[in-house]
Amino acid sequence: MNLFDLSGRVAIVTGGNGGIGLGMARGLKDAGATVVLAGRNASKGAKAAAEVGAKFSRADVTRKAEVQSLVGETVSAHGRLDILVNNAGTAVRKQPQDYEEAEWHHVLDTNLTSAFLCSQAVYADMKKSGGGKIINIGSMMSLFGAPHAAPYAASKGGVMQLTRAHATAWARDNIQVNCVLPGWIDTELTQGARREVDGLHDSVLARTPAGRWGEPSDLSGIAVFLASPASDFITGTAIPVDGGYSVRG
Ligand code: NDP
Repeated sequence: MNLFDLSGRVAIVTGGNGGIGLGMARGLKDAGATVVLAGRNASKGAKAAAEVGAKFSRADVTRKAEVQSLVGETVSAHGRLDILVNNAGTAVRKQPQDYEEAEWHHVLDTNLTSAFLCSQAVYADMKKSGGGKIINIGSMMSLFGAPHAAPYAASKGGVMQLTRAHATAWARDNIQVNCVLPGWIDTELTQGARREVDGLHDSVLARTPAGRWGEPSDLSGIAVFLASPASDFITGTAIPVDGGYSVRG
């Protein structure tokens, strides 16, 4: 038995049309899974799907009805659902005193409520097929604070705790729920951060023991591991993929 074989498995990757989600989707596809990328931008989605050999489904994962359609259509088209990657995310960078309430809700809804809605929507189908894998995307901000990241850090701390709660609730259903904590990865999101936060590029290089920014492909392996039978007795964890960032004193 190949412990990392995902043949016959069906996966949804939210925000899989770019960045880290696309890197994870590539890993899942290469390991044999049928992959559905979900996002709002259809042209970016079509391009990413063609690149990876995946399907694209347009969905705003902050909207319960769209999440339910995404899951329902995936199960109708492919007969089952085994893997959910809750990756869609966003950031608004400001000092805490300057946020509008709407900006707070936008970040919390995109990063945290979406993971709650998607996990709730897949539960029945995963249970029916005898188990499943949910992979949530946290951040170094699940562990640390930063002056320009109050709602983002609150949402990512929440993602780690949601992981633990779901893991304990659904372990007897053979659904493993884990969280990945990426370090600094070169994507559209962090290209924005580099424009807005002075010195960020160099401070990440200086603080990261590996001496480089991560690439979306650095997340492919952990996606396969946490989606595969190799991780069947691992649940509720938060695993850094960060070139050593989180263990440097
Ligand atoms: P990107 O901005 O490149 O990708 C984010 C993706 O999320 C996009 O594909 C976007 O697609 C999708 N998305 C955003 N809002 C929604 C929504 N409401 N519904 C559906 N999809 C949505 O960012 P990254 O790849 O960098 O980030 C991916 C995840 O990794 C995020 O959760 C982020 O917080 C996390 N992360 C990133 C780090 C990094 O260094 N890059 C570090 C730690 C964590 P569309 O616009 O088409 O909807």
